[in-house]
Amino acid sequence: MERLQKILAQAGVASRRKCEELILAGKVEVNGEVVTTLGTKADPNSDIIKVSGKRISGENKIYIMFNKPKGVITSASDPKGRKIVTDYMKGIKERVYPIGRLDYDTEGLLLLTNDGEFANLLTHPKHHVPKTYLATVKGIPHGTALDKLKDGIKLEDGMTAPAEVEYKDIDEDSKESVISITIHEGRNRQVRRMFEAISHPVIRLKRISFGDILLQNLKRGSYRHLTKDEINGLK
Ligand code: URA
Repeated sequence: MERLQKILAQAGVASRRKCEELILAGKVEVNGEVVTTLGTKADPNSDIIKVSGKRISGENKIYIMFNKPKGVITSASDPKGRKIVTDYMKGIKERVYPIGRLDYDTEGLLLLTNDGEFANLLTHPKHHVPKTYLATVKGIPHGTALDKLKDGIKLEDGMTAPAEVEYKDIDEDSKESVISITIHEGRNRQVRRMFEAISHPVIRLKRISFGDILLQNLKRGSYRHLTKDEINGLK
């Protein structure tokens, strides 16, 4: 038997503190009964535990890739009532949550799962999963500016690790460029801040890969299950 907030946090629902809030808010059920007392214990292997009506224990592990449109929040709820990624998962009965995050205005590849251990592994700073983005930026950055991004650039929270950076398209008329950038970290708004640091702000940002997983032609707003090979390739 374990404390409910610990079970929820280990299942990847949210941080332990946030899980305590969910319990206090009456969102958590054990065997059909709403539990609002924080010390309550349960057995993750035999009790049926649900958060907001979705079961978190004893269910199949699922792994999904989603093409997030811009203007959608990467979180399990939004107090302002904006669209959230799980609004697009209507066909999924399990309670899945995003692995890492994309900004509200960023589009592209987002993975979701109900496998807390897998999510923690991939988002752990030591794991260094490469993530590739297509950034449409203002102006036409000089090669020396891109070299700064390649080598590492100083941001408020320290130097960035080396990145791979490549021109993809340059539009002389609109004075915009599309640049592909692969980073091995996952700091908050990192790509946007890196381009700001070279005075070429991002106009549009799209993630096209996460580790070996490629977004390819998955339609915007659609999702699909990952294949076994794709899942194993990430571990
Ligand atoms: N870097 C950003 O700036 N935003 C994202 O959404 C992801 C990476």
